[in-house]
Amino acid sequence: MTRVLIVEDERHLADGLRYNLEAEGFEVETVDTGEAALSLLLPPAARFDLLVLDVMLPGKDGFTVISEVRQAGQFIPALMLTARGRPEDVLRGFAAGADDYLSKPFDLSILTARLHGLLRRHQWISRTQAPAAEADVFTFSGRTIDFNALELRARGQTFPLTLMEANLLRYLIRYEGKSVTRKAMLEEVWGVREDTDTRPIDNFIVRLRRYIEDEPSRPRHLLTVRGVGYRFLAEPA
Ligand code: CA
Repeated sequence: MTRVLIVEDERHLADGLRYNLEAEGFEVETVDTGEAALSLLLPPAARFDLLVLDVMLPGKDGFTVISEVRQAGQFIPALMLTARGRPEDVLRGFAAGADDYLSKPFDLSILTARLHGLLRRHQWISRTQAPAAEADVFTFSGRTIDFNALELRARGQTFPLTLMEANLLRYLIRYEGKSVTRKAMLEEVWGVREDTDTRPIDNFIVRLRRYIEDEPSRPRHLLTVRGVGYRFLAEPA
């Protein structure tokens, strides 16, 4: 059974979510603070398959919770609940390690659909049937990205990837040698269509360069294309 942890301090909303998700066949646990969520998610952690995380919480907020969870090497698929009209929260959430978001107020059937989507994407990324460049394991210049294990191996080290980092790498690899715009990355990888600040993408690139590049300040694989976006080169000349 799929176990969902809901972190939401608005009692009526948490109860409504629990009721509906249980009706969908999920096993649900709810907590109302970031601290309680972390005590359940950080090692030695209970097994959860999905995390629904409100941004505005008393004490530690949702951004802090997801970034601490990711720093601890926990790569549970996570959906954040953001306030309507705050696209900057969406990107801040993604930068902190969230995999998807929903703006409040939302329709419960949409939330359920998004959670099923997250589970499917998690399975898709582990069991893709895409062409060669999108195989489960992609190797370039002595580096290996394992989309199944969500790991990147380089220079004798192993770096865990979030679902979003893996999706972003997969997207760049798909367009190997070509420039991709930040806007296209936002739309295709994050599904964000609002006209928002694209700078958080740069934070993702900075992080990926630390894994991939020998000298992150002089990248050879993840190149900046001035005024456009980025370009991935598997085997630079
Ligand atoms: Ca709240």
